[in-house]
Amino acid sequence: MAGASYWFRDLITRKRDGDVIADDDWRRFVAALVARELPDYQVSALLMAVYFRGMTTEETAALTAAMAASGEQLVLGEGPYVDKHSTGGVGDTVTLVAVPWAAACGARIAKLSGRGLGHTGGTVDKLEAIPGINLSLGAEELKEQADRVGCAVAEAQAIAPADKIIYALRDATATVEALPLIVSSILSKKLAGGAPAFVFDVKAGRGAFAKDEDYARKLGRSLVAAARASRRRAVAVITAMDQPLGYAVGSALEVAEAVATLRGQGPDDLLEVSAAVAAEMLVVAGVAGPEEARRRLDATLESGEAFAKLDEMARAQGAVEEWWTRLPEATKTTPIKAERGGYVSRLDAFTVARAANALGAGRQAKEDVVDPAAGVVLHKKEGEPVAAGDELMTLHYDDDERLSRALDYARVAFDVGEKPVPRPLILGVLR
Ligand code: URA
Ligand code: CA
Repeated sequence: MAGASYWFRDLITRKRDGDVIADDDWRRFVAALVARELPDYQVSALLMAVYFRGMTTEETAALTAAMAASGEQLVLGEGPYVDKHSTGGVGDTVTLVAVPWAAACGARIAKLSGRGLGHTGGTVDKLEAIPGINLSLGAEELKEQADRVGCAVAEAQAIAPADKIIYALRDATATVEALPLIVSSILSKKLAGGAPAFVFDVKAGRGAFAKDEDYARKLGRSLVAAARASRRRAVAVITAMDQPLGYAVGSALEVAEAVATLRGQGPDDLLEVSAAVAAEMLVVAGVAGPEEARRRLDATLESGEAFAKLDEMARAQGAVEEWWTRLPEATKTTPIKAERGGYVSRLDAFTVARAANALGAGRQAKEDVVDPAAGVVLHKKEGEPVAAGDELMTLHYDDDERLSRALDYARVAFDVGEKPVPRPLILGVLR
């Protein structure tokens, strides 16, 4: 391991004492970090100092820019380019719906997506359920397809290596929660993606990284401020993530749900959040004002152009013809039934995610392979009436051993009792 650096010790001292660190020092830190010249104990000390002292918006922007520049960066240039990012939800199928939908309305999206992180799903894992699809597009191919088709999605691989190093240390030093570190982590990856405008879908609730609504708002405000300080346009939509979005959780099941939604037959909640995100994408991309954005979204859903755009994107990336009829299906299913009647008083997204992941829909360890067919289909959502014996959800899986682990979670995901007080899905829009 590298030995202690004295200039870096001085930087740690200044942050410990609450000083504002200059842009050049943040750049020097990131350069030394990715060159592996800094020992983990010194970087960890800086992260803890940031945790307690915070960072100004300008400091956050400087760190973020340096992190973005630490790896591959896309150059998109002028045009109605826009990117979206979710802080991570359960059954969060919004990207699969909002990206082609916004593209059908005139936005251009060249999107670098990730795999699942923690209990939440990743867009790359989900899209891999589509037979034939290629998600390892190079930067040129991604941009070329976005210009020709309107949208393209590829796996983010070589972007922001500084984030990977910092994230691993944050995880080990109880500093993941430091707001400027979350913001620089998310925004550095977005800046590397090259879009001039972003929509952040900041999830709040039991199934989210931000459990608390006020914290989610703070995160949304910080993301927008840091994006602006980085000379990008940005909007944050704060959305509820207490129960999963839609009914499907798991790769192929969520792709099928996205297809149904783009054909006008999807669940209301997924449609509402996707429409809100897509509308903000059109506005922040400069394609349309808020009313015109909603009008175009309605028209392209109605006409079938929104679904046609998803098909066009998938086919451009190698998907087989009529891929939505050839999605992988699990060999086995097991229902979970209500033991008593009443209303669904609570449906816990986090517990549903654990059940789906135990079935193979997500990873327990980084090396695990996601089973594209595995997952959960819910039959009831919060507030719906149930009778004893009604099916609450169906587990989809291939392997009985996985079922026994999933059942422990599946059996406690639902509470049946009094009718709950509903809370709105869209908790705020920060422009
Ligand atoms: N998502 C990220 O990419 N980074 C964080 O720090 C938190 C959520
Ligand atoms: Ca879903």
